[in-house]
Amino acid sequence: MKPNVAEKYAFETGVYRPPSEGGSNSLLVRLTRNCPWNRCMFCGMYKAEKFQVRTVDEIKRDIDAMAALGNELTALSKRFGGDAEINHQGVITLIEKYPALNHHQGFAMLYHWLLSGGKTVFLQDANSLIMKTGQLVEVLTYLRRSFPSVVRITTYARSKTLVQKPLEDLKAIRRAGLNRLHVGLESGDDTVLQQVCKGATAEIHIKGGRKALAAGFQLSEYWMPGLGGKALWQAHAENTARVLSAIDPHYVRSRPFRAWPGTPLAQETAAGSFEMLTPTEQLRELRLTIQGLEITGRVCFDHVGNSWKDPHGRLLFSHSYQGYPFPEEKQTVLNRIDEGLRVGGEA
Ligand code: SF4
Repeated sequence: MKPNVAEKYAFETGVYRPPSEGGSNSLLVRLTRNCPWNRCMFCGMYKAEKFQVRTVDEIKRDIDAMAALGNELTALSKRFGGDAEINHQGVITLIEKYPALNHHQGFAMLYHWLLSGGKTVFLQDANSLIMKTGQLVEVLTYLRRSFPSVVRITTYARSKTLVQKPLEDLKAIRRAGLNRLHVGLESGDDTVLQQVCKGATAEIHIKGGRKALAAGFQLSEYWMPGLGGKALWQAHAENTARVLSAIDPHYVRSRPFRAWPGTPLAQETAAGSFEMLTPTEQLRELRLTIQGLEITGRVCFDHVGNSWKDPHGRLLFSHSYQGYPFPEEKQTVLNRIDEGLRVGGEA
């Protein structure tokens, strides 16, 4: 009888992670399920399920299962020789032994993580910092001990949670091995933030971002060109540049607004109470934001939604996860925007 892989190697994997974590083949470790806020009007993620914090024991069992599955794959791969820790023949042999791995939620993710050297981890879901500090530190310590090859651990965090957590707690979490936070700023304009029900003000974003930096984290802030619509595009651009400049994070990442079906903002768009910008108008807004951005980090367009084109039909911006270093390449980005505006920036 085949061994029951469902019990032996069971671990849970959530759906979402930032594109940069996909690019680095991060191991996905689920600390919480879904989003504790879940009210942003543009957001279609985590809608079906209630928020839950997983227990430390449950998370440790997942880590143990991932480590054991990785060890078995490595041991099998060694039989086939070669320099690599794991290889294709090892995977085939493992799947022959446990056919249920074909349907395992996280096996392909674990395989790609190991194949790429097992270097980065992303903690799911939407706001891991909401866990009690002691529990989060315990999980991080266990994770680091279980996977010594890991060089970077990242997670999503909300600005409000950053403001609420004492600085000493954030420092303890940082020391335990969490390196980078991905924060959804979306806008630096209070009216826009209120209209989309972000649950944060410009001041909260600034305080939260600065606190993350003071605790020693690398910080990625995501904003949404177009989120103010036709009514608020100028205030959205100017205040977003102001707030991002006040934080000066390591990364600023552009996520142009799209009206995702089923979201409240899509319904408002359909009803005509929210007027979306055209791609050209979005580009004009982007110009104003970039113009006002006084930062020393990198500006990234690392998402498929940044699809404006230049007069040759090429993408206006590189989708690199490392983006454009500012202030050195600010003028380059402005020049590219001007090229896009010459053809109307149509996506
Ligand atoms: S905090 Fe993030 S995950 Fe939660 S509703 Fe807002 S955008 Fe969505």
